[in-house]
Amino acid sequence: MKKIVVTGAAGFLGSHLTKNLLEEGHFVIGIDNLSTGKQSNIDDILENENFSFYNLDVSNNEVLDLPELTNIDEIYHLASPASPKFYQAKPFETIAVNTIGTQNMLELAMRWSAKMLYTSTSEAYGDPEVHPQPEEYRGNVNTWGPRACYDEAKRLGEVYCYEYYTRYNVQVKVARIFNTYSAGLRNDDGRVISNFVTQALTGQDITVYGDGSQTRSFCYVDDNIRALKLMMEKDGATGEIINIGNPDEYTILELAHMVKRLTGSNSKITFHPLPKDDPKVRRPDISKAKRILGWEPQIDLEEGLKRTIEAYREKLFVKN
Ligand code: NAD
Ligand code: UDP
Repeated sequence: MKKIVVTGAAGFLGSHLTKNLLEEGHFVIGIDNLSTGKQSNIDDILENENFSFYNLDVSNNEVLDLPELTNIDEIYHLASPASPKFYQAKPFETIAVNTIGTQNMLELAMRWSAKMLYTSTSEAYGDPEVHPQPEEYRGNVNTWGPRACYDEAKRLGEVYCYEYYTRYNVQVKVARIFNTYSAGLRNDDGRVISNFVTQALTGQDITVYGDGSQTRSFCYVDDNIRALKLMMEKDGATGEIINIGNPDEYTILELAHMVKRLTGSNSKITFHPLPKDDPKVRRPDISKAKRILGWEPQIDLEEGLKRTIEAYREKLFVKN
């Protein structure tokens, strides 16, 4: 049994990861300030004797004084708003959690010789001019725009990881995650799959921003969680940045039509202004993940969407 810290444990990816680690018999300490996550994501594990939950801000240094944070084996640092809707509403918190929060977790990793995984993002590439994006591509990020608080904070988070790895030999790994989804996303999360599926199921217009020709590559949550755990496990991933995503690329308009077809919805597809600095294309080069982790996604978009639609249907119409 390992003692594992998961920050952002009440969020979309953090709650999936936490439950998966508990199922494997580990002891998990979840830390989350519930800024974008929801306690309802972890209600079913709060009574689990192998789970401790702290409603705390990881950017606050006091987190390091938590008495339970001793003899830690692994740290997954996922805490951060991730949806453009939320990080743009909380720019300073987003910057803090990815910089000071990352440093706090690196300090903890150094103190207990723990391994640490930091979840960075494909947004580190900004609006990319190289396609698909390999890890060596240095990106095209606008510092003077609405996405900068997230993109640049994540890039600086990577810098903290680099410094602790090279100076102090902290066993750190950086996952650059590309758009990941499941029905674990809040219905009001604002990200495209939760918006489109919620809209299609409730008969609202499906809101395509711009003309829908921009592309994204969508990874189902189970594939992502498997990759994060492999990164933690493999020594070859230490001191490395690795893209984690599904390389199948779709335009947003194709996605809208696919959601409409799979839900059997009568919703209209409507067009709205494209947000500033919205990346025109995005697709991971995953050759490094294949080589170091022996990983590639197994769930294609149609299959993942079917699962997502069924679970959202239940969430929207059965449980409530
Ligand atoms: P999410 O918003 O559902 O979860 C993030 C969690 O972090 C939330 O529960 C939130 O309350 C918590 N949090 C935020 N600030 C905090 C703070 N200061 N202290 C403690 N907790 C805090 O987002 P997600 O999609 O689960 O993303 C998880 C991580 O993965 C994030 O770091 C995100 O940047 C990264 N990521 C996700 C995707 C994706 O497609 N899901 C893509 C790229 C990167
Ligand atoms: N998008 C859209 N309609 C929506 C939400 C998002 O057309 O209701 C578009 C958005 O402009 C972007 C893509 O879908 O081009 C993915 O957006 P999301 O917010 O999910 O994540 P991003 O990849 O931009 O961080």
